[in-house]
Amino acid sequence: MKMKKLLALAAACVFAVTAFAGCGGNGGSSSSSSSAKVLKVGSSIDFAPFEFQDEGQKEYQGFDMDLIRAVGKEMGYDVEIQNIGFDGLIPALQAKNIDVIISGMTINDERKENVLFSDPYYQSGLTMVVRADEQGIKSFQDLKGHKVAVQIGTTSAEAVKKLGGVEVKELNTPADCFMELKANGVDAVVNDRPVNDYYITKSGETGVKALPERLTAEDYGIALAKDNTELQTKINDALKKLKENGEYDKIYAKWFGEQK
Ligand code: GLN
Repeated sequence: MKMKKLLALAAACVFAVTAFAGCGGNGGSSSSSSSAKVLKVGSSIDFAPFEFQDEGQKEYQGFDMDLIRAVGKEMGYDVEIQNIGFDGLIPALQAKNIDVIISGMTINDERKENVLFSDPYYQSGLTMVVRADEQGIKSFQDLKGHKVAVQIGTTSAEAVKKLGGVEVKELNTPADCFMELKANGVDAVVNDRPVNDYYITKSGETGVKALPERLTAEDYGIALAKDNTELQTKINDALKKLKENGEYDKIYAKWFGEQK
């Protein structure tokens, strides 16, 4: 009898150890120390320079990725990042599959009905990209009667629908939108300014251009479940600390060159 109990105990230990080892990171996780708490992060890894994955590279990269790893470190948490499509992020948060979203997500009243936001961490806004030889579209007002691609579930989708008289094509990622533009399936892409600029300048993309007009000004925030005020405070404290100690500026300069 005693022997049986011992065996059961040993089996339970082996199981626990194996299960724990199996909880290792994924492409975006930082190295782990066994005692640290884990911050489960959701992000739509399709939004360079905020979140993206280079071919052949394991780690997710970008401004948001560096920022959330720094926030986690500041709070004493290991950071585990899951790639979730943009329109699935808030549902994942509500289902408690993740603790936070960092995904170039704009703070707005509609989302505030379902989630909490951290203090703003980046100022953004919407611009548009057209083909380099485009003559007819010089401002957002010219979009009426045209086909425009936007990423599904985004502020761009909402803003373009509000313009009225525009045929809106909602696609899964900004890359899909740019491909559709180059294939003449649409006449313009509306998307976040830094992502449009990065696409054109950093990727050396030719045949398309970004127009300077801004349709909106928007702030990005880290989203949390509606009832998670405790974590919201911790995240805001960490953000504040990173701004004070120069770490935020370093991350900003790495991705955008200069402090705004
Ligand atoms: N900032 C936009 C939004 O919050 C787009 C974000 C994104 O596509 N990752 O809707």
